[in-house]
Amino acid sequence: MLSSLSISQLLETCGGELLGEKMDMVFETVSIDSRQIGNPKKTLFVALKGAKANGEDFIPDLIDQGVQGFLVGLSFSPKKNNLDRCIFLRVPDTRKALQDIAAFQRKLFEKPVVAITGSNGKTIVKEWLGQLLSQGFNVGKSPKSYNSQVGVPLSIFGLTDYHQVAVMEAGVSKAGEMKALERMLKPDLGIFTNIGTAHDEGFLSRKDKIEEKLQLFESTSFLIYQRQNSLLSEIIEKEIEDERRISWSDSARATFVRSLRTEGTLTRIILLKEELSMHTFHVPFSDQASLENITHAIVAALTLGQSASQIQEALKYLKSVDMRLTVKDGVNNSLIIDDTYNNDLEGLKVAFDFMNQQRPKARKIVILSDLLQQGASEQVYPEVSRLLEMHQVNTLYAVGASISAYPFPKSIVTISFVTTEDLLNHIRKDDFQNDLILVTGARSFGFEKVVDFLEQRLHGTVLEINLNALTHNYNFYKRKLKPETKIMVMVKAFAYGGGSSEIANHLQSIGADYLAVAYTDEGVFLRNEGITLPIMVLNPVKESLQSCLDFDLEPVVFSVSFFEFVANFAREKTKEIKVHLDFDTGMRRLGFTSDQLQSLKKLLNQNPQVKVKSVYTHLAGADEEVHSEFSLEQLQLFNEMVSQVQPDLPKNILKHALNSAGILSFPDYQMDMVRLGIGLYGVEVSNKEPEALRPISTLKTSISQIKTIKPSETVGYSRKGVLPRGGKIATLAIGYADGYDRRFSNGTGYVLINGQKAPVVGNVCMDMVMVDVTSIQANEGDEAIVYGSGISLLDQAKSIGTIPYELLTNISTRVKRVYYLD
Ligand SMILES: *Cc1c(COP(=O)(O)O)cnc(C)c1O
Repeated sequence: MLSSLSISQLLETCGGELLGEKMDMVFETVSIDSRQIGNPKKTLFVALKGAKANGEDFIPDLIDQGVQGFLVGLSFSPKKNNLDRCIFLRVPDTRKALQDIAAFQRKLFEKPVVAITGSNGKTIVKEWLGQLLSQGFNVGKSPKSYNSQVGVPLSIFGLTDYHQVAVMEAGVSKAGEMKALERMLKPDLGIFTNIGTAHDEGFLSRKDKIEEKLQLFESTSFLIYQRQNSLLSEIIEKEIEDERRISWSDSARATFVRSLRTEGTLTRIILLKEELSMHTFHVPFSDQASLENITHAIVAALTLGQSASQIQEALKYLKSVDMRLTVKDGVNNSLIIDDTYNNDLEGLKVAFDFMNQQRPKARKIVILSDLLQQGASEQVYPEVSRLLEMHQVNTLYAVGASISAYPFPKSIVTISFVTTEDLLNHIRKDDFQNDLILVTGARSFGFEKVVDFLEQRLHGTVLEINLNALTHNYNFYKRKLKPETKIMVMVKAFAYGGGSSEIANHLQSIGADYLAVAYTDEGVFLRNEGITLPIMVLNPVKESLQSCLDFDLEPVVFSVSFFEFVANFAREKTKEIKVHLDFDTGMRRLGFTSDQLQSLKKLLNQNPQVKVKSVYTHLAGADEEVHSEFSLEQLQLFNEMVSQVQPDLPKNILKHALNSAGILSFPDYQMDMVRLGIGLYGVEVSNKEPEALRPISTLKTSISQIKTIKPSETVGYSRKGVLPRGGKIATLAIGYADGYDRRFSNGTGYVLINGQKAPVVGNVCMDMVMVDVTSIQANEGDEAIVYGSGISLLDQAKSIGTIPYELLTNISTRVKRVYYLD
């Protein structure tokens, strides 16, 4: 925080009624999460009422932890015996009070504040602008995508005197919220990224949505936006005076006119200013969304006075934004937080917060490299030191010439090394026992090796998900489509086994337009994980409609009777409900048939509270050439059905029909949106472009034991396994309960060990399977790849008479998912 808060400042800022006697208290941090208290005596806890929990319920616990200051609701009555050690400020609305404190802190920050809003790309623009500016400034930015009514105050509390510029994200989900964000942020420079259909909920029209968002920029000196023929430009140009507008465009007149040229894997961006000065930049990608985001960031950096050469220098190090922390099991029951890609103070703070959310362990250990690109070390390391103390870190392994020269406080056991090699030569696995270890360092330090060394090897089975491969697959399909065609991604069944919240989160960050789940519960789960994209529910049940309303989920309506039920439900609740209509054109599963359209039309007219967002059909055989005639008939029938109901539907509803295979086979029928499923997860089921996709998941396990088998012996249950000439078998830590299908028994399936095929011996057991390693160099503890590159999922599925979908979705939830970016 920029300044600590005394009781009198608190009263002055928030008003309210003060209970308690300790009037000399001073707060250095504000927290809303009882699991994230670093320094209890100096923390003001703000009890917020959420959908899931009431912060006030945690107060007794927090008092035990040593917290002494609380902002609570009017009806809260503290225990008498707490009043001599704690203070309680009762206010009518704790969220508003939190925002009041943020507005107060913001006023103390005298450097420029950049605020970013828009439908897509906010977080990426924020991160990239932060990276560009960090060449010349100490940048404070909102962590992750803290952009909400509560996230923005927390972001503001993250600012300190050390920062020279702040880059903040602002997001709203309904009318009336932006005013509150503006009051706190008071931005000097604004960026309006774009306006899409995301978050249309809560707004009367797109125009209203734009106007709501524009409120953020009421008093900014400058607003950056992309000038094109659009409602957004039109409204901005009406409402914001000429001298406050900074526009860029590929075609129209603008402050910066952009031209793009592809040069191998790079794209050259040329920005021509009105007075004809010109800047050239090279960026390492070519997709439209990334180019739009980086252009916003470059224009903002130029506006803030960053030189073009500094920007170009920073572009060389541009990191993809979604590099996330992962937790891994470490040696001797330790837990590793792997943050080997992050290397700035903001990232470090996020990592510490994350560390605090883990179960406590014996010690907190941090392995940290020099903070490169962070400016003068006299300023950086005192801040690092403060963070280490605040989070009560016991031991620091400092790696690099500048960090190892800094005198950290005696309370932290500090062991310094100049290089990562030195560190690796020095540490032993037994130095770590039941510890919580944060490993974080600049890329050039290669801390992956440190994580690799500390990671527990015999940890059984994991499903690794490569999020970059996911992006690759997404972009592969995106390139097959017209730029304006939307993509709905099917994340049903735990995102085809991949883990829905992480994947949904990643999709949100790379700009997917819509998500779909099978059941309402899956959608509720995603909402609770902070997913804000619109979500369609394929198979809602009547009992779940209330949850659909509560969590802004959009059920599919597939029959006359269900339509009636939904319509009555919404009418009784006096709410509008967003729905999608499923037309059955031959799948014969769910959906309206042609002969029901008259009834449907009537229902649509009688029930304006039912808001149709889209109409779709599903192809029964898109992946098989033999059915292409049938598919085309389906598509034609769909078009006919749509034109029948069109007069009774709003103009802007989306029409969609194609799944992954359909996108490749029937591109002419992409309509307004496609529904991408299995292809995203790396399986090209239509076999049209079998090499184009990357597998996103690798199912791995490890060898628990190796045994030598005599010809006379049998292996496993029912004594099915034999090695006629004897040999070696390895027992792996995976079985049918993990999703390794029992039909792989007796040589049908195989795994890869050190690159070689090891066939299954005998029957697959519940938690284990034995494989033949007679001719393979293998040791106990070695890794075995069950699915992944080198093992075609399609072939594996065929060998047991099933399809890849089933193999993926059967991987048990007890198998740990680990996400990474290569
Ligand atoms: C699962 C599903 C999809 C996606 O199909 P893929 O073959 O995985 O691409 C599309 N639409 C509907 C209605 C679905 O249920």
